[in-house]
Amino acid sequence: MSENKMSAKEKTLFGPERNPSNIVPEKLTLDSRLKFRCHPGVACFTACCGGIKIILTPYDILQLTKRLGIPAHEFLHTYTHPTYLEQTDMPGVMIKLNEDDKKCPFVTPAGCTIYTDRPTACRYYPVGMADFHEGGVRDSEEVSTAAEDKFFFIVREDHCKGFLEDKEWTVREWRADQGVDVRDEMNKEWLRLVMRRKSFGHQATLSDQAKRMFFMASTDLAHFRRFIFESSFLETYELDQETIDKIREDDVELMLFSFKYLAATLFGAQQGFKIKEEKIQAKVKEIKIRQDESVEKSVQEYEVLMADRERQKKEGK
Ligand code: SF4
Ligand code: SF4
Repeated sequence: MSENKMSAKEKTLFGPERNPSNIVPEKLTLDSRLKFRCHPGVACFTACCGGIKIILTPYDILQLTKRLGIPAHEFLHTYTHPTYLEQTDMPGVMIKLNEDDKKCPFVTPAGCTIYTDRPTACRYYPVGMADFHEGGVRDSEEVSTAAEDKFFFIVREDHCKGFLEDKEWTVREWRADQGVDVRDEMNKEWLRLVMRRKSFGHQATLSDQAKRMFFMASTDLAHFRRFIFESSFLETYELDQETIDKIREDDVELMLFSFKYLAATLFGAQQGFKIKEEKIQAKVKEIKIRQDESVEKSVQEYEVLMADRERQKKEGK
């Protein structure tokens, strides 16, 4: 299925614009009411678990690898396809649908086999969340990610019979029931990175190295941990012992740390990231040596040129 076709059907993660034809044109708040219920008795049960694009966040991948008891690289290979996030050049992954029936590999007639660890996008459905500063995320530091500062919208697809059910809730109650609050908290800095990248538009591009780092940190924490502890990282950055201990042992801490690292390296956001003074001095020294060498080279080139001129003058050319 092509990217274009799939974008018309996407369990929304980033906001309303990826699924415009099914969005009910009304901005809801946490207190807005919604009539909806999804359960095995609905005629359409699991109809929304196929022919759809489900982007995975780093926290989704972390939870799913734990649930399935497999390492991230195996999970990525078996269950995902690479994609780009929010029409940017930032690489991410989406669930790989079955070749034959285009259904999610985790769905059975009895429902979702990973329900308690299902991805964020599945939890949002059919209530999406978006920012009041639609399309204008120029400075993400100013953009709050608190649910109170967001608006919500309904994705209403013809096949979804959940809207005909009698159960009524507020958006707040629905979100609590779906367990999205923890997900919002876990995903917010990562979503912020993507939205910030998006706000830069096509005039700025990420280097291949930056893209590789973003992908590695977003999808494979074991790999990212090796990068931290088996490279010159700890010699380069000033990190307190408490942080080092936390990210060595705790995957969620490591994930949250990776978002800060990406913000610092991709967008120059400092967020407590400091290069060690001796590293800065060594870099300054290296640059100075390079500058001195370059000045010396220019002087030599100039002298050769002048000597050549003199020689030509003497030879009367
Ligand atoms: S992960 Fe579960 S809820 Fe989400 S599409 Fe797959 S089967 Fe459905
Ligand atoms: S289509 Fe709607 S009611 Fe049917 S299973 Fe999906 S969310 Fe539930």
